[in-house]
Amino acid sequence: MKRVLIVGGGIIGTMHAVLAAEKGFAVTHLERDIKPQSASIRNFGLIWVSGRAAGAELDLALRAAQLWGSIGSKAEIGYRANGSLTIAQNDAEYTVIQEAGAMPDADARGFRVLDRNQTIALEPQLAGKYAGALQCTTDAAVEPAMLLGGLRDYLKTFSHYTWVPEFEVVDFYHDETGNHVTDIVGRKYSGDYLAICAGAAHKGFIEDYLDQAPVRKVRLQMAATAQLGAKLSHSLADIDSLRYYPAFKELSLDRLGSQTEIAARYKMQLLLVQRINGSMTIGDTHEYTEPFNHELDEAPYDHLRNVMNSIFGREVPRIERRWDGVYSQSTSDEIYIRREIAPGAQIVTGVGGRGNTLSPAIAEETVKSWSI
Ligand SMILES: Cc1cc2nc3c(=O)[nH]c(=O)nc-3n(C[C@H](O)[C@H](O)[C@H](O)COP(=O)(O)OP(=O)(O)OC[C@H]3O[C@@H](n4cnc5c(N)ncnc54)[C@H](O)[C@@H]3O)c2cc1C
Repeated sequence: MKRVLIVGGGIIGTMHAVLAAEKGFAVTHLERDIKPQSASIRNFGLIWVSGRAAGAELDLALRAAQLWGSIGSKAEIGYRANGSLTIAQNDAEYTVIQEAGAMPDADARGFRVLDRNQTIALEPQLAGKYAGALQCTTDAAVEPAMLLGGLRDYLKTFSHYTWVPEFEVVDFYHDETGNHVTDIVGRKYSGDYLAICAGAAHKGFIEDYLDQAPVRKVRLQMAATAQLGAKLSHSLADIDSLRYYPAFKELSLDRLGSQTEIAARYKMQLLLVQRINGSMTIGDTHEYTEPFNHELDEAPYDHLRNVMNSIFGREVPRIERRWDGVYSQSTSDEIYIRREIAPGAQIVTGVGGRGNTLSPAIAEETVKSWSI
């Protein structure tokens, strides 16, 4: 049986483990922390097909959405194909979502333009003042708090899967017997194939291989509200999301006018996912220049609550928890960064704000390159 080594217990590494174990490889999965605590557990859990750039990126996202459906039926990860609603709060915004609804690939994305009555019929909690919504039926969600543990529980059903927490890889070498990684005290693991999925850990031995790579870190601020007291059947976004997602770059976004001062300062959009326990994960801000601020600011949350109050037509529940997260993002046309560093050994990172979405399809691309 061929041996696969995976470095990184985030969603990219874990999806590599799932796809490799299912294909019949003996998988050893290394993670530096007791439990992974990086981007993959700090995110919304969105599988966000709607915003992906037309062409190769959308194709990858649609393939990922299929794989998520299949994995979600096997592992306890809170998967649901709930779709999303991007809310147009005035007539100018509604005109832009109508343009989105007429995009050439709108059907593939599952886009449908809804007026306010149709929106309320689907989502009665949205009783505020707005013009309508762009529904996307291909979007889905998982529970970040359940995701990695749920996938590892599924992986434990494969006798040839081994999880090794608290193993920080500090070096790598390749020889005629395969690919080898070592930790600081010289413990070693070896495999025929190796995928290094270390997220935003760009330093150390990885730096040697990513030196010229077009990749940067991005910091986001997030929050969770108290329980809403009612069920939302979709994830939600505001119109600012159209400014950030590449799918919409050809639309007449100038109709939207400027963002509010706070939204522009923090490079914000509203994204909202209701968790299974009834609370809502909301965000997000974007900070692109290191060193990042270490503080969580209040102003973005005031802005998000104002937008939510206006869409819900009432005071939404208070914020109970806040956190931030950092992801690794490709800054070129590469959808993500894949580098072969030796025969059978690859670094996979730089997936940016679409890493949860694309993870199974990216892992599938890697595993297809390995012969069993
Ligand atoms: C706040 C926030 C919200 C987001 N929302 C979404 C969303 O809703 N949908 C979406 O598609 N994407 C979203 N993203 C992006 C997505 O979360 C990331 O792209 C994705 O989690 C990256 O996964 P990863 O496995 O590459 O990295 P990580 O999750 O960072 O995992 C890397 C793992 O590697 C381990 N590691 C690093 N170095 C070593 C080493 N030397 N040895 C051993 N282990 C090591 C780390 O400890 C870590 O556990 C969001 C990101 C953030 C920060």
